[in-house]
Amino acid sequence: MSKYFEHLILYHEMFEKFYKKVLAYHGTTKLKKEKKSEYYNIATEIIDNILSNQNEKEIDLIILSDEMKSSMKIYIESEIEISDDILPSEFEVRFNDYEIYKTNDLSIKINGIIDRVDFKKCDNGVITSARIVDYKPSAYKDQLKKIIEDIKKESNIDNILRLKKELLIEYLQPILYLDFIVNKYSYLDDIEYLSVAFSAYNRKDLLNREYFRDIDMSFIIKELLSSSDDKITEDNRYSSLKNYIGYVFNNMHLGLLDHFPEEKLCLGCPKYSMCSYSFKA
Ligand code: SF4
Repeated sequence: MSKYFEHLILYHEMFEKFYKKVLAYHGTTKLKKEKKSEYYNIATEIIDNILSNQNEKEIDLIILSDEMKSSMKIYIESEIEISDDILPSEFEVRFNDYEIYKTNDLSIKINGIIDRVDFKKCDNGVITSARIVDYKPSAYKDQLKKIIEDIKKESNIDNILRLKKELLIEYLQPILYLDFIVNKYSYLDDIEYLSVAFSAYNRKDLLNREYFRDIDMSFIIKELLSSSDDKITEDNRYSSLKNYIGYVFNNMHLGLLDHFPEEKLCLGCPKYSMCSYSFKA
């Protein structure tokens, strides 16, 4: 496994353990300003513990430890600042053979791991908002903001379709994961808000605070569906999500969607040796 993936796994382990410990010690995952130093201590203890099991050169471990601790310090500060009522609730959610799409002659099942799921619940425990959090080594920021802005400004239909395709490539995975989460945890009629947050954890992106954190999926789905008859309204967000997934897989089935394999994704993919679409050096 490449260093890139090894470090990715360490960061994911750190976030998972951090929130689980915060929940165990403080009874909530909502980060509060007055507890900041306690969160730093929890993060430091977890990082030391994780790195004590790594077989790397001492100097590399010192650098990695410094990177993880300072990133975590900035991360905690920014989470305190933007704290809202959709709270981290589930971590490293794994699923296998989830049937995402079915017709008479085709069944598509997916496997996946969702880094974090945040929920907002009413007093009676019903989930009203769901957010998928994807931890990223670097921020998406300008690239995604730009696509969305360009779609709003563009009038040429071919350019709009090209931009939508870019949007689709970025968001297909979180859209599918969101469908799994809504099905697994929620009473569908009560969902008010579905979103995806791309949470960067590298020090540079965290420091400049421009990373694109929380994206309302109803906006994305609305953009992607806007050439069809589906209209997103306050009360049909979930059915629009389902319609959109149907639309994507129909097109995939008909061979109308392109694939864009990427080296860093394919090299870490369990299907690499048997996949005919994989990245070829
Ligand atoms: S190896 Fe195939 S399935 Fe895996 S990421 Fe690459 S293109 Fe996708």
